[in-house]
Amino acid sequence: MENDCLFCRIAGGQTDTTFIYEDDNLVVFKDINPHAPVHWLVVPKKHIRSINDLTESDQDLVALMIDTARRMAEKAGIARPGYKLLFNVESGGGQVIFHLHLHLLGGWERK
Ligand code: 5GP
Ligand code: ZN
Repeated sequence: MENDCLFCRIAGGQTDTTFIYEDDNLVVFKDINPHAPVHWLVVPKKHIRSINDLTESDQDLVALMIDTARRMAEKAGIARPGYKLLFNVESGGGQVIFHLHLHLLGGWERK
């Protein structure tokens, strides 16, 4: 937990952000500036700066993030038409919040 990290504060329940999903390891909430009809963020409670900072001990957490995104796509009703999963990595990759998060983007096409 880093106090100057926005996503640590959000994941720690210190803001009024509504969680779509929460468990011991991560939270899911809507992106404040959506780039798609469905734009949710899957955010671990553990502070990890970016994909570049992952270690072997984080493998289960990353698998959990991807599996949670899959389940959230089902929940949002976008699994069958399809969706994008995106990690922006460091500023050159478009990352602006330096706390690991997985973007779930979809809903352009609904079947
Ligand atoms: P990045 O570019 O770092 O991969 O994505 C960060 C995302 O966090 C952006 O899409 C941005 O809109 C979102 N975001 C930034 N601040 C907040 C906030 O306070 N609340 C929520 N729900 N999303 C945020
Ligand atoms: Zn953080």
